Amino acid sequence: MRKTFQYKLYQAKRNKHLHQQIDIAAGIYNHCIALHKRYYRLYGKSLNKYQLQKHITGLKKQEKFKAWNQVGSQAIQDITDRIDRAYKLFFDSLKSERKVAPPGFRKRVKYKSFTLKQAGYKLLGGNKVKIGKRIYRFHHSRNLEGMVKTLTVKRDPLGDLYLFFSCDIKDQTIDRIMTGKSAGFDFGLKTFLMPSNETDPIQSPLFFKQGIKAVKKANNVLSRKKKGSNHRKQARKHLARVHRTIANKRKDFHFKTAKALVSEYDLLCFEDLNIKAMQLLWGRKVSDLGLFSFLRTVEHYCRQEGSELVFVDRFFPSSKMCSSCGHINKELALKDRSWVCSECRTDHDRDKNAAMNIHREGASSLGLGDVRPALQAVPA
Ligand SMILES: [Zn+2]
Repeated sequence: MRKTFQYKLYQAKRNKHLHQQIDIAAGIYNHCIALHKRYYRLYGKSLNKYQLQKHITGLKKQEKFKAWNQVGSQAIQDITDRIDRAYKLFFDSLKSERKVAPPGFRKRVKYKSFTLKQAGYKLLGGNKVKIGKRIYRFHHSRNLEGMVKTLTVKRDPLGDLYLFFSCDIKDQTIDRIMTGKSAGFDFGLKTFLMPSNETDPIQSPLFFKQGIKAVKKANNVLSRKKKGSNHRKQARKHLARVHRTIANKRKDFHFKTAKALVSEYDLLCFEDLNIKAMQLLWGRKVSDLGLFSFLRTVEHYCRQEGSELVFVDRFFPSSKMCSSCGHINKELALKDRSWVCSECRTDHDRDKNAAMNIHREGASSLGLGDVRPALQAVPA
């Protein structure tokens, strides 16, 4: 199992060397993208990463590109690997329906990190790590476990630096005390998650709303400042800080919610998310909620705690189907928060009904629970 440990670096003058390395990595990255584009224009196919690495090794010997030597060769290899993967995804997507954009140029200020594999760094015990020739200290908030596989140095929009150690941890046998409980969950607009059983819905935390307000305000302040002024710089930093605070709160909420759910249920069923369609229906709120990252967190805990996680196909008509008789209500509109089944007269709360359908569909796909005769799935 892979586990990542995150530490914040102490503020120090020598951190400028790491900032420099991130900037140089950005330059190398953009250089590689330019090469790829040119190669593709000339030959109509993608450049392979070994040719690219060889080319870069050549450049590093030139006076003009001398600075590139500050970045470890492992970090450069990581850049070429990443671009290679991104191009593979892009070319594969040409054959399928889900289109992926090819990797593009990135601004230096937006470029965030570099990654080292086995070489180029050394842990010196406690809170010290040697990267290149220099020793850096970090807030030693927890102990590392397992074997370190990679180290990523990351810069956030406020200019703070973080270390991410990705470690291989021996799979522990999971000692789960089965609760015998399973449930389906529907993401809602007003409620964050509606469970299929009688437990209380999980409300969207207030800070989502407060956060949007704070961002708007910080944005307004920024737009009033003169371009290039010091005040503008400060306002931009403030905006980044507001974003970071919200992101941290959201992450915390996701972790706590996911942990509680996974310890309560042996089986959790969710709908496979179609974020694009949801965004059309719900507007920008979807991205504020960070549903994907929440599901990743649930996935993580399920693996750790031995719970089962099932995703129901996105074309399964979870909202439109009556959970009592299976009738499909084709007239159901998004604004209908509740409805009555025309066949069996059952009163439905929209989200609750969807959660129950997701639960049944998920459980039956595993051969568990109350399994109804298979119903024809129609696009929702
Ligand atoms: Zn019905």
